[in-house]
Amino acid sequence: MLAELLELGDDWKGRTFTTGATGSNLLGLACGREAVVTSRLSSTEDNGVGELGLLKACLKAGIREIQVLTTMGHSSLFKSASVVGLGRASVKDVPVSQDEPWKMSLTALENELKREKEGVVSIVAVSAGEVNTGKFATDGVATMKKIRVLCDKYRAWLHVDGAFGLFARCLPETPEFQTLINHASGLELADSIGGDCHKMLNVPYDCGVFFTRSATILSSIFQNPNAAYLVAGPSSIPSPLNIGLENSRRFRALPVYAVLMAYGRKGMQEMVVRQVRLARAVAEYLESSEGYQLLPIQASPGTKAIDETFIIVLFRAKNDAINEQLVKKINASRKMYVSGTKWDGKPASRIAVSTWKVDVERDLKLVKSVLEDILRDAA
Ligand SMILES: *Cc1c(COP(=O)(O)O)cnc(C)c1O
Repeated sequence: MLAELLELGDDWKGRTFTTGATGSNLLGLACGREAVVTSRLSSTEDNGVGELGLLKACLKAGIREIQVLTTMGHSSLFKSASVVGLGRASVKDVPVSQDEPWKMSLTALENELKREKEGVVSIVAVSAGEVNTGKFATDGVATMKKIRVLCDKYRAWLHVDGAFGLFARCLPETPEFQTLINHASGLELADSIGGDCHKMLNVPYDCGVFFTRSATILSSIFQNPNAAYLVAGPSSIPSPLNIGLENSRRFRALPVYAVLMAYGRKGMQEMVVRQVRLARAVAEYLESSEGYQLLPIQASPGTKAIDETFIIVLFRAKNDAINEQLVKKINASRKMYVSGTKWDGKPASRIAVSTWKVDVERDLKLVKSVLEDILRDAA
């Protein structure tokens, strides 16, 4: 049902619920690691990383390094790289420029992929919804197709971190949302896709989702072997304990099922639309404000920034002294909550709209009043 809502197609034989997008990134890198190593082993009898372990399998396969190529990867991608034995230092940025660090450069990507001949193999991780800005690494099907071709050519694994960005795919096809729809299209060309349900689907923590093409790659990594007492009866549905991290686990699919049944595509669309409209209204206010600056600074200010706004708005106060205190002051209002981050080496504030409760007019008024009060108090 989720694959249908997100229009991913139905060719995802490996799929499971996770604890969140962190868990999904971990599964994605584990699958990528398995695939890029196993495909270079001379015989399938060797059984891959799950059986041999990373060191032995890489030695046999003539691999000296596995790198993860991304743009502004989420912190959990680094964590996952550490857990699956690739190391945080294996995560490398391949951006088009310093001004658009979230956007993937195909040239830089291919230059890194070419290192295959030196025994350096790659997993590509597309950030579909970068956590500071909400922006996408790719801009449409054409770019994703090119990345797919490069990954096939250099036998790299293609993973998408779509924690919240995946849900741009259920926006209605109207001019208002066309830019976002373009940016989120083509993601279905990946080998694996991760998303969060406890963000845009509004289910309780913890709940994420993971899709991959192959039915067996997950079990080659996550099978829980030699536990006769846990063997389930014959079923076409693989037991979750053989395709994910946990053995004992909650019924995470249930709240997701309830939300999808209760709201349907129309209800989900309506909910996402309201959240995007609030984020955009806030972005428009910030763009025209005397005291605040919408980030990232656009080469040509205006409609583009608004069209690209999804549910995250990044900004700072123009006055450095106010900016230093901004996150603290906003949160001390106890009316709204922002997280602090850094942009261009300076503090920045980040509004993430993520709730079914959004009422655009009411909430815009509240956001404006909190931000205006802070400027007035500082004057
Ligand atoms: C939130 C987020 C994650 C981590 O998700 P958890 O739900 O905290 O595990 C990973 N990637 C992106 C892009 C995110 O926004």
